[in-house]
Amino acid sequence: MLNKDYLIKAVDGDQQVRLILSHTTGAVQEAHQRHQTSATASAAMGRVLTAALMMGSDLKGDKDTLTVRIDGGGISGPIVATADAHGNGRALISNPQADLPPQSPGKLAVGALVGRDGFLEVIKDMGLRQPFIGRVPLVSGEIGEDFANYFLVSEQIPSLISLGVLVAPDLSIKAAGGLFVQAMPGADDKVLEKIERQVFSLGPISYLLDKSSSLEEIMEQIMQDIPYKLVGEKPLQFKCNCSHERLARIMASLSSEELQEIEASVGKLEVCCNFCNEVYGFTQEEIATIKKQKP
Ligand SMILES: [Zn+2]
Repeated sequence: MLNKDYLIKAVDGDQQVRLILSHTTGAVQEAHQRHQTSATASAAMGRVLTAALMMGSDLKGDKDTLTVRIDGGGISGPIVATADAHGNGRALISNPQADLPPQSPGKLAVGALVGRDGFLEVIKDMGLRQPFIGRVPLVSGEIGEDFANYFLVSEQIPSLISLGVLVAPDLSIKAAGGLFVQAMPGADDKVLEKIERQVFSLGPISYLLDKSSSLEEIMEQIMQDIPYKLVGEKPLQFKCNCSHERLARIMASLSSEELQEIEASVGKLEVCCNFCNEVYGFTQEEIATIKKQKP
């Protein structure tokens, strides 16, 4: 059984394709618990979080961050995930309780929940004056296909993207993870096509992750007789970067009317982080002190 969240990277011997394979059950389970998501919402949010964590592993700079936003007009509302170069990721879904009956047994209706009337947007903040923003129309709302389309259209990288979340009857996350197979510049399509056939013959990625004991073992099954080497490994986790200090600064930037409104509706000076649902409480004196510190 796979018991830790991580990813591995590989390239084939002729440098035609690169692969990233990830296991994210722990991160998706934590996102599910923090947001109390329905089965279908867990699958939708979990797929987006998994893709963000995998893309984050390609960030070079220590402080680089990546944000993925999917808004398909469906009842789930927008889904947002962020990731950094250190394997930390977090995610939110606007309507965590939204749910739909499965399309067939074991096939959650992710595309219908997310909708496909909208966009997938990727923002890479690499410390430059302007962040990189890539935006493509959604193909199906099933997330995996939408990321493949993003890579092809926005980054000119032909890709096979497989993202999977297996939800247990008690709504806990049984398995989650993903696979990216991406053509290198000038690559021969045949290698990508061959790997694609081998991947499809193995069945859904979530089931594969559920019954395997390591990503290295799955990589062997994917590549079969194609020579390859592993070129990287990274631990992954759900981790939000909010803190008492950070939210105190945001509170201090609000007008006294806005602060009164919060107090009137919640009964105290309290705010909740949208990404991790952590609740932070403040005293009037604390906010007043920070307000005074401002230039
Ligand atoms: Zn947070």
